[in-house]
Amino acid sequence: MQLRCSDSACGQVLKRDYSAFSCPECGELLEISCNGFRPDAGMLRQLWSERRRSNDPLDRSGVWRFREFLPEYNREDVVTLQEGNTPLLSADRSAPYAGLTKLQFKHLGWNPTGSFKDLGMTVAITEARSRGAKVVACASTGNTAASMAAYAARAGIRARVYLPKGRLSRAKVAQSLDYGAEIVEIDGNFDQALSSMMSKQNSGEYFLNSINPFRIEGQKTVMFELMEQLDWRSSDYVVVPGGNLGNSSAFGKALKELRSAGLIDRVPRMVIVQAAGANPFVRTVAAGARALTTVANPSTCASAISIGSPRSWRKALSALSFTDGLALDVSDEEILAAKAVIGRDGIGCEPASATTLAGIKRLRQDGKMQADAHVVAVLTGHVLKDPDIILKVHDDLTAAKVEQ
Ligand SMILES: [Zn+2]
Repeated sequence: MQLRCSDSACGQVLKRDYSAFSCPECGELLEISCNGFRPDAGMLRQLWSERRRSNDPLDRSGVWRFREFLPEYNREDVVTLQEGNTPLLSADRSAPYAGLTKLQFKHLGWNPTGSFKDLGMTVAITEARSRGAKVVACASTGNTAASMAAYAARAGIRARVYLPKGRLSRAKVAQSLDYGAEIVEIDGNFDQALSSMMSKQNSGEYFLNSINPFRIEGQKTVMFELMEQLDWRSSDYVVVPGGNLGNSSAFGKALKELRSAGLIDRVPRMVIVQAAGANPFVRTVAAGARALTTVANPSTCASAISIGSPRSWRKALSALSFTDGLALDVSDEEILAAKAVIGRDGIGCEPASATTLAGIKRLRQDGKMQADAHVVAVLTGHVLKDPDIILKVHDDLTAAKVEQ
């Protein structure tokens, strides 16, 4: 395993304990590479399947079960809450709503802290502990903060979270407080909170935003678990919400590794869906993708993806090109309508997750996706992550009924 520049044309290789997150040569983000790893696909499938029956905490984790593709650690350093192992659910009402015959939800909101962030955090906090970090920090729209706070608490490391004041769900703030995090409120949006945190060089904080390549490694295992649930036969599409694009980057990296290891023989097309009020990636792709087109004041009901300057945009672009993928945006009205349908499937999710169903519906309407395509939509956050918006929507509906 080595740490290297994610731009293959640059190829700079760094020491594993290198403390910055961008390449000193070209400024691109770094990544972990398992160069030269030539596994036996059949043996791995069997080993991973056997681990599901084990009671070893590492085997019980849906991340560490796939540790052959993760950085190596001493067993006692691993910080786990037995994350992962999330179900792949049929979407009985959502499928006809979107105009599909076969739609499934991979619900990452059913993780220990209620969001997909736990999958990357278990590896990143393990890395922090093995480096001897005393304080970990992140800027967050709420889910990263809650996840980092929980795993830091498990590891006995202080957690400091930088949050955009008044712009995130109160449930997420409450969750971070409960896990004992120190909260630093920033006047501004997520992008400003991240800049503010990053400007504190030499503060002794180890940063755990998704620019941290160890986060991406844990996040990657979503695709391993998904392909295993599909009996190693890929769906036609995987649809993901797009915020800071760490998830899309991780899934792209996973699909490359799965394919080159011979674990799957084809990859799904990746669809990245953003909110129309926070759509820098969609704009960037539309403009030819030579430079990032930022959104100065992102605004959407999907606060988890209200991000105007996603740091991982080049990695996400590479994932899109590797999978012959698509990027599109949907309005807040489309997001909330789709969210209500996911609720009626008995599943529920936070608003950002519902961009997936809204995006699929749009692709069907525009004739860009076949009705009989097998589609997996990745839901990223639990329904209780943002109760205020549910109550507001239902209050508005009640008010509208009274007026009639
Ligand atoms: Zn470089």
